[in-house]
Amino acid sequence: MLSTPTRRRHAIDLDDFAADELEEILETTESMKEVLSREIKQVPALRGRTVVNMFYEESTRTRISFELAARALSANVVAFSARGSSVEKGESLLDTVRTLQALGADIVVIRHSQAGTPYLVAQHFRGSVINAGDGRHAHPTQALLDLFTIREKLGQIQGRKVVIVGDIVHSRVARSNLWGLTRLGANVTLCAPPTLLGPAAYWTGTWPQVTLSHRLDEAIEGADVVMALRLQKERMQAGLLPSLREYSRAYALTPERLARLGPQTLIMHPGPMNAGVEIWPEVATAPNAVIEAQVTNGVAVRMALLYRLAS
Ligand code: ASP
Repeated sequence: MLSTPTRRRHAIDLDDFAADELEEILETTESMKEVLSREIKQVPALRGRTVVNMFYEESTRTRISFELAARALSANVVAFSARGSSVEKGESLLDTVRTLQALGADIVVIRHSQAGTPYLVAQHFRGSVINAGDGRHAHPTQALLDLFTIREKLGQIQGRKVVIVGDIVHSRVARSNLWGLTRLGANVTLCAPPTLLGPAAYWTGTWPQVTLSHRLDEAIEGADVVMALRLQKERMQAGLLPSLREYSRAYALTPERLARLGPQTLIMHPGPMNAGVEIWPEVATAPNAVIEAQVTNGVAVRMALLYRLAS
């Protein structure tokens, strides 16, 4: 039985989610997973509501899982695509949002390459806004599904050591995970070459409990979870890396590093993966890799969030 959730209008980042609310979402996600395990994977919770997915940047997992999540809750789902819409005729984002509102949209799910776009939309839209990834800023539903997967596999997040390695400076996944993981009591280490870590003062100023490292072999000592990130070439300026081969040697999850970690350490990746760059294929498919579980859990977590916003 689903409990009545605390009222929240938008989900733009996890910075304004308290630990209690995060825990409640993870519990609602469990109920949603149960719905998805039924023969008929649908409940009427959002019948008569309209969810519009506005993806201005590429997406596979997030876009499809929001769509499946909204359908599993019986919502009307509209996939807005900038191509073929009046955006091509020069209609601004806010005019588009006003049009969607006039057409009866209740929830807008938006991904945009410009950080801050979901905030802007939230200021002009009378319904709810969910950020599906904005520039390098935030990706709250990815972090929620990561929290859920860690809790599901390890039992608890409190006190766990989580290492996030790779292109931290351009990663909205790292930032949203930092809010969620630290609120739930994990110890987070960020590991990257200096050019991909960004200013140390920013990280330790915002999350004082975070540890920074440039050496992966030291950082992974005693890790419960290692999360590899993709190099965000689309957000990168030239000259940040000496060569891909050198980067991989120092920062990739290789079979040798996997062997040192041991079989109980979870290997995570938000996708899309560049096999042979930040993670080796045999690491991504190792028994302790939970990358597929992350994708599967993405549907239930997004159902939980849609349900809570619509209630
Ligand atoms: N899919 C994640 C995102 O949209 C990670 C990535 O693209 O590397 O941020």
